[in-house]
Amino acid sequence: TVRLDDVGKTYDGGAGPVTALDGVTATFDEGTFTAVMGPSGSGKSTLLHCAAGLEPPTSGAVTIAGTRLGELDETALTRLRRDRVGFVFQDFNLVSSLTAAQNVALPLRLAGRRADSERVRAALAEVGLADRIGHRPRELSGGQQQRVAIARALFTRPAVLFADEPTGALDNRTSHQVLTLLRELVDRHGRTVVMVTHDPVSAAVADRVVLMVDGRITDELTGVDAAGVADRMTALERSC
Ligand code: ATP
Ligand code: MG
Repeated sequence: TVRLDDVGKTYDGGAGPVTALDGVTATFDEGTFTAVMGPSGSGKSTLLHCAAGLEPPTSGAVTIAGTRLGELDETALTRLRRDRVGFVFQDFNLVSSLTAAQNVALPLRLAGRRADSERVRAALAEVGLADRIGHRPRELSGGQQQRVAIARALFTRPAVLFADEPTGALDNRTSHQVLTLLRELVDRHGRTVVMVTHDPVSAAVADRVVLMVDGRITDELTGVDAAGVADRMTALERSC
């Protein structure tokens, strides 16, 4: 379970401070799949980064599996992120000089552990890339790169997976594959998945849809289909 208590995040950029999160309180329970939706700039990526311990919040607290992130030193935080949390980035974040297999194995290698090559192969096969193991990112399509990123995020078998628009760059068929994979992680393996998406069809695969506007969670939908999500998003965009 991941918990956010009144989390605020203000970026101090050159152009003055920007409040990206304005008091977000949310719980992502074990074995649940949450979709996060909202207009561009509403704070979705920031919410994921703070919840995953990639960015420190300016105020409030984040708790993962009972551990308050603010109380950890850098070493303990790195370990927790590595062992318990998977993250799929909006822009993949693959290392361009490494092959698909090396990218998948990278988190373990960085931790000074060996990655079993059969397991790496299996992880890539699971996302439909058994025949792209030795390819480098520039030799892969956007969707294939995203699937390598997903295989890498899942490789350490994290309890929680955060995915920032994991299907944004994928065609319908590949999106469906990825969503099925995420759904199975929750249903078969009891993992927690939190996914940002702009796509109502993708969001409808989740158990719950959280809507963000201006750095706040304004609404939660459960038991709605893609049409229901789309209606709600249209209403939201009209009111903004
Ligand atoms: P999108 O749908 O376009 O990905 P988002 O909902 O993910 O948008 P965020 O990336 O979380 O939005 O950004 C929220 C706000 O914080 C935006 O106004 C953005 O300009 C600002 N912001 C994000 N990252 C930074 C940063 N590193 N420095 C300064 N401002 C930032
Ligand atoms: Mg974003």
